[in-house]
Order: sequence, then C-alpha cells, then structure tokens
Amino acid sequence: PSSGAGSLDHPLRRVFGFSSFRPNQEEIVRALMGGRDVFAVMPTGGGKSLCYQLPAVLMPGAALVVSPLISLMKDQVDGARANGIRAAFLNSSLDFAEQSAVLRSLQSEELDLLYVAPERFALDHFRELLASCQISMAVIDEAHCISEWGHDFRPDYLALSSIPEVLPGIPVAAFTATATERVQHDIARKLRLRDPFVLRASFDRPNLTYEVRFKEAGEGQLVSILKEFTGRSGIVYRTSRKSVNDTAKMLQKRGFRALPYHAGLGDQERRDNQEAFIRDEVDVIVATVAFGMGIDKSNVRFVIHADLPKSIESYYQETGRAGRDGEAARCILLFSQADIPKVRFFIDAMTDEPERQRALDSLSKVISFASSTACRRRMLLDYFGETYPRDNCASCDVCLGLHELTDCTREAQMLLSV
Ligand code: ADP
Ligand code: MG
Ligand code: ZN
Repeated sequence: PSSGAGSLDHPLRRVFGFSSFRPNQEEIVRALMGGRDVFAVMPTGGGKSLCYQLPAVLMPGAALVVSPLISLMKDQVDGARANGIRAAFLNSSLDFAEQSAVLRSLQSEELDLLYVAPERFALDHFRELLASCQISMAVIDEAHCISEWGHDFRPDYLALSSIPEVLPGIPVAAFTATATERVQHDIARKLRLRDPFVLRASFDRPNLTYEVRFKEAGEGQLVSILKEFTGRSGIVYRTSRKSVNDTAKMLQKRGFRALPYHAGLGDQERRDNQEAFIRDEVDVIVATVAFGMGIDKSNVRFVIHADLPKSIESYYQETGRAGRDGEAARCILLFSQADIPKVRFFIDAMTDEPERQRALDSLSKVISFASSTACRRRMLLDYFGETYPRDNCASCDVCLGLHELTDCTREAQMLLSV
C-alpha cells in the first residue's frame, strides 16, 4: 500500500461511499499509513472512526482498536461490516467458542479491524498471541479514559502502556474528543507515543447556544423550560439517581413523554429507555452522567443541566450530545450557589486526597464558568486551550444579553474555600 502522495479519494469512495474527507481526516490517514504515531483530538461527530478504519483496510494485517464499551464496539463493528470491512470484536459478551473463532480469524489474517476491550492487554496469553499475528497498528479510541485527569477514567486502560512492547514498530494512534493540555500530556506519556503527529481540531460547536440561568427552587422552572421544547428531543442531566427518578416521575405526571436513565436501573430497563429515546418514542430522557457515551442520536435539540456538572470537560461532553446533525440546539445550565455546599459534601467524603483535590479543582472551574459574565463559548474554548477569535459569539446568554448579569465569581469561590 502506498503511504505517499497517491490519491486517497478513490479508496474513500470505494470503502465508505464518501466523496471527500472531513477536515483533518486525510492528514491523519496519511500519518498512520506512513507508520507514524498519532494523537488526535477531535470533537464528537468529527469523524474519528474513518481516520483509522480507512488505513485499516489499506494496510496489510489487522488494526487493533481498543474501545471502552461493549455497546460501542458492537455499533462500530456493525457499521464497518455494512461498508464491507472485515471487522470483529473481542469482549466478555462473547462465549468461549465465539472468542476462539475471532482469534482464529485474526491468526489466519481474515480481519481488517479487531475491536478489543482494554482489559485484554492485562492477559499474558492475549499479548503472546498478538505477537504472533500481523497487526497493522494499535488504535486507542476514547483515549482520555487512560487519564485520571479526564472525566471518564478507566483503570483498565492503564494496561495499554504495554502496547509498544507487545507490538513494537507499529504505529499507535490515540483518539479522543476531550483533552485539556494536561490530559493530552498524560495520554501521550502513558501510551508512550513516539514523536506523534498531533492534531487538535477546533472544539467550537457553532450550532450550540449556551445559557446559564439562575436555578429556582421547585419544579416550575424546569417545567416551563421544557414546555418551550414540546415535541423536541432532549436530555435533562441530574446528579443523583434519586433526583433522576423524582424528576422523571414529576414530568410524566405533568404529561411530558419522559423516562429516567441511571446505572441503578436494571440492564433491560436502561436499554429500553435508551432505545425509546433514540427512536423518538419519548422526548426527554432524565439522566445521570451514566447516559451518553456511545449514544449516537443526531436530533437532540436541548441539553439541560439541572444540577452542577462535575467539571468543564464533562459539561462540554454532555452538552456536545446536542445538535450533532448540525442544526441549532440549546444548552441550559441551571445554577444556584445553594448547590455548591451539596457537591462539596460529596467531594469532602472522598478518601483519596489527590482525587479529592482534583474534584475540587474541577468544581471550582465549573463555578467560575457559571458565575462569570464573560462569553460562555469563549470560556469553554479557553479551557481547551483554544482562543475564540470573536468578541461576541452571538449565541450565549452573555453575548445575547438575555438577562442582567452580575459577576459572582468571588462569592461563589468563597463558598468553595470554607
Ligand atoms: P466521532 O467518533 O468523531 O464522534 P464518527 O467517526 O462516529 O465521529 O463519525 C460521525 C459521523 O460522520 C458518522 O456518521 C460518519 O459516517 C460520518 N462521516 C465521517 N467521515 C465522513 C466523511 N468524510 N464524509 C461524510 N460523512 C462522514
Ligand atoms: Mg467515536
Ligand atoms: Zn458568547
């Protein structure tokens, strides 16, 4: 296969049926085909999968893709197969015979793409087996899961540090939609990337409007906001399982088509509720942060945070689920200083001191975001190390002058420092 300047348009059309690359995709494909490590930060919906799936098809051997969720792997494999790519996954949802069959097809070079769960890399026999197979590259999807500084740390991901030893000489590619400078360095170090081709796409989501509103006590405020969105699809995030249940019940009683989602529900109920939302059988899903990763619903028109998110990263990630079809969508954060001591209470209960400090630090940044009178978009982008080029974004509560604003950063931070 050519890693030079030959046109990739033809394989792009042949494999995926797309007539052109999205921004940054071609550069990443070329870097990988040239044998270079890659570190790519692209927002959700930016088209990260294609960046490794195309080289996976064009290069000899199978590409290994580490992915954090069984449901994500299945969706990716189904999607790849629909494009005629020889893809499979290996995780605990398969029984022994099925796993053996997948491994046999890997050994006999019948795969372009193999999705694996991160915990496989902790298994000696799996690592030994890999060393005897032809592997074209190793891809770490959702790479922020390797960092304690990210919003979705998975201890299992730490086993991926062994990849350069197990599979020497092949390119390693890390993809994520979230990375502060700190998380980025942490990922590159833990994965031991060698002089990677680094790509950071813009995180601006121009079709999203950001609003922070003073949170009122009682249910009236949420109900009146949701009435503005009647018949449209959206997510209401709450912190605790109990408040998710209560809010969902309250909304149902008032005639909204709403369902709850949190990790305390049974597997079946969780799946059913998620499906009902994705198929537009209900309008509103009331959820904890357990909802969202790997969910590809394009027509989410609003995301409401009825409680404080735990970090700017999680706020960006959760609001990022709105408007993936490129149409306008709104993100509303309901903020009251009265919420600060509640979150503080949980943080203070943390027994791991460094973890507690990180949680406090993250919360403090969220509070600054919510209490400031600066453009919300600029603040979000600043957080990711990106400078927003305009003075007025024309799509946040501050720039639109939606309400009178007083900067209460100092007061709010005081509440955090007691
Ligand atoms: P990410 O993983 O970055 O969130 P995906 O890889 O899931 O994004 O891609 C998002 C959507 O964009 C998918 O439906 C995918 O088919 C589509 N897509 C990706 N690249 C292209 C392209 N070059 N042209 C058209 N559609 C694309
Ligand atoms: Mg993805
Ligand atoms: Zn603005």
